[in-house]
Amino acid sequence: MESFLELLLSLTERSGVIARLIRGDKDLFGSLVEEKSGKAKNQRFEVDFKTLSDTLIQELFKHFIGEKFPQLKGFIFGEETNTFTLSNGENVTIEIGPTPVDTAHMLSRLLDPKLAGVLVETIHKEMKTCLKEEDREKVKLLKYLDERQLGVWIDPLDSTNEYVRGVTGSSSDGLYSQSIHCVTTLVGVFDRITGKPLIGVINQPFHSTDSEGVWCGWSLWGISEEGLIGMSSPLIPVRKGDNLSKKICLVSSSEDSHLLDKLNASTEWRTINVSGCGYKLLSVITGLADAYVLSKDSSFKWDTCGPHAILLAMGGNLEPFVRQGEGGGEVLYHCCGEGEGSKCWANKDGIIAYLSKDVVSSLLSVID
Ligand SMILES: [Mg+2]
Repeated sequence: MESFLELLLSLTERSGVIARLIRGDKDLFGSLVEEKSGKAKNQRFEVDFKTLSDTLIQELFKHFIGEKFPQLKGFIFGEETNTFTLSNGENVTIEIGPTPVDTAHMLSRLLDPKLAGVLVETIHKEMKTCLKEEDREKVKLLKYLDERQLGVWIDPLDSTNEYVRGVTGSSSDGLYSQSIHCVTTLVGVFDRITGKPLIGVINQPFHSTDSEGVWCGWSLWGISEEGLIGMSSPLIPVRKGDNLSKKICLVSSSEDSHLLDKLNASTEWRTINVSGCGYKLLSVITGLADAYVLSKDSSFKWDTCGPHAILLAMGGNLEPFVRQGEGGGEVLYHCCGEGEGSKCWANKDGIIAYLSKDVVSSLLSVID
């Protein structure tokens, strides 16, 4: 259990380094174009940097979790496909190899050897984890989790639009609406029998810059049934701003206008639109917002599983927006619903996420 959490934390640290390296190093990766289309299509390399980062991070988790916990092989899920057709018609699969040489060989089919070499070093480098000594002691006491019963959802880079834009937006109320701050890596471990979320890890690779302007990230983890949480550094933000009297409900830009009108007309609530399902959930977890409401089926299991486990660990929850029965019903992670392709993994009844139960009754009294 301790080693499983430690591995997840180590991999999220590594994924943050990969995300920053590919996004930030213009000299190295500037030649990977942002969008492949028409004349702008990249002539030199076969993948764009968004695809490369997304897929490499997903495969990083798949490979190293599967290597250390072979029982989980085949139960690590994500959105991205890892097979591409090159311009010469040949198929290439992005996979981390058993050795750095194997990974370099695979990457050299997509990138020049220098770029491939830089990436391989990071991919295969073990990182110090953010599991603090006092947390390690707590995690040691946890009951045994049967690895044969676990599944993992990975969202390698949530809010890829902001990752591609790479723009640092301004914040209000401590929240960034459209900014590279909104990018997160989301890892959720669930029980394959019950579908319940068990462990969550969120990494925010572009959290802040140091004195030299270099981006730094942070990680946050939680174990739902044990009520344990921990983080890599004490970065929990404090809500600030002029309008502290109203509760903040985070919403997406495409939210239903009637719902927004009701919330904004109420004396208790105001809405703020920020990018990224993961960033919205992270902001509820850190207390920058009181709730996140999504009335549509536009979030997926990989977006919510990890944050859901952390919310549960903190006494909050993530429930369907369309209420089912007394308690509102449960969002579960083991069964797919209807719909083609990835659509079957959508949270089809929408979601409401919160830390405090009082928030739900207040929200429902406004929007029902
Ligand atoms: Mg996502």
